[in-house]
Amino acid sequence: MGIKVVYIEDNPQNMRLVRKILGGAGHYVTEATDGASGLEAIIRERPALILMDVNLPDIDGLELTQRIKADPTLSHIPVVALTANAMYGDRERCMAAGCSGYIPKPVTKNLLLSTVASYAPQPATEPAVPDRASS
Ligand code: MN
Repeated sequence: MGIKVVYIEDNPQNMRLVRKILGGAGHYVTEATDGASGLEAIIRERPALILMDVNLPDIDGLELTQRIKADPTLSHIPVVALTANAMYGDRERCMAAGCSGYIPKPVTKNLLLSTVASYAPQPATEPAVPDRASS
């Protein structure tokens, strides 16, 4: 089941890779190359998931995440950070900023797809029908 994703990323190679992987899996990716246009895309698209590069040209991706989490109209949208800074404490910094998850770069197909799939709404199941015939 495809979901709507906004990916904020200034690196063209990463953008291409993620577009290819997610598009190939049937997800819908809206792309933004900086924080300002990313925020516009989020407000416009209301995605099911935000993928956030941490190092953006105009704003730190974690600072943008904090702004999203402080906005009651956007705070419900999960943010997953993508960062090449595999430094100790990076994951903790992401979580402290309000991220729901963290993907280290270089991005691998399996981890990206399993992470995105975990934010897909569960398929509707038939509600159990109470037996009213005997009442
Ligand atoms: Mn970057």
